[in-house]
Amino acid sequence: MLLPANQFKRGIEGMKTIGLLGGMSWESTLSYYQAINRGIKQQLGGLHSAKIALYSVDFAEIEALQHRGDWHRAGELLAQAAAQVEAAGADCLLICTNTMHKVAEPVCDAINIPLLHIADATAEQLQKDGVRRVGLLGTRFTMEQDFYKQRLSDHFGIEVVIPDDAGMEQVHRVIYDELCLGEVRDDSRQQYLQIIEQLRQQGAEAVILGCTEIALLVSPEDTTMPLYDTTAIHADSAIRFALTAD
Ligand code: GLU
Repeated sequence: MLLPANQFKRGIEGMKTIGLLGGMSWESTLSYYQAINRGIKQQLGGLHSAKIALYSVDFAEIEALQHRGDWHRAGELLAQAAAQVEAAGADCLLICTNTMHKVAEPVCDAINIPLLHIADATAEQLQKDGVRRVGLLGTRFTMEQDFYKQRLSDHFGIEVVIPDDAGMEQVHRVIYDELCLGEVRDDSRQQYLQIIEQLRQQGAEAVILGCTEIALLVSPEDTTMPLYDTTAIHADSAIRFALTAD
């Protein structure tokens, strides 16, 4: 998204440092890194690139805690990492995964810089576009639990529909067994496209790619359903933050 030139109230030297809590998985952190740097280059031109402080975790540790249901420990680990991102000079923090926003609260408590919440950035875009009922694809944690859906409905009045149980299972499996391992398969893309059609039949006007790897598999050219890529939207919010005066 191009920002109007007059939004750049900060001088280039005043560009803020973007803090990234990544590695979940590193495949999608790569997308963040690329999108943020491309966005800054597009806005400022020449050799400009983003100021980024990145802490990249070992995803195997986090995934084990997720599937064991030990969100408390996962929150502690991410809170410690977030504090290190702040100590490295970051002016804001992005948790580069939808799922781990489940522990946004302990992470926020560990830092004194703003957390740019992925669901808020996405909901703001949906609201701008007038979308009232949206489909959500993500990990089973994101699709099933309240921490994400409820934020969209309570704070933004957006109704969320999710796939049936079999659909959720497929979407979740492809994320962990393929996309987070860098594997992009045509048969999985077809499965996702079928599930997107089911969400349309459930009344979805658009679909949130609510897992930061899904855009590696499905793109707007694959479907007539409007797609909201949370990685790109979150990266855009960071670019705006970095280039806008307080
Ligand atoms: N990156 C994914 C997400 O956005 C899944 C990996 C994770 O569990 O953090 O939810």
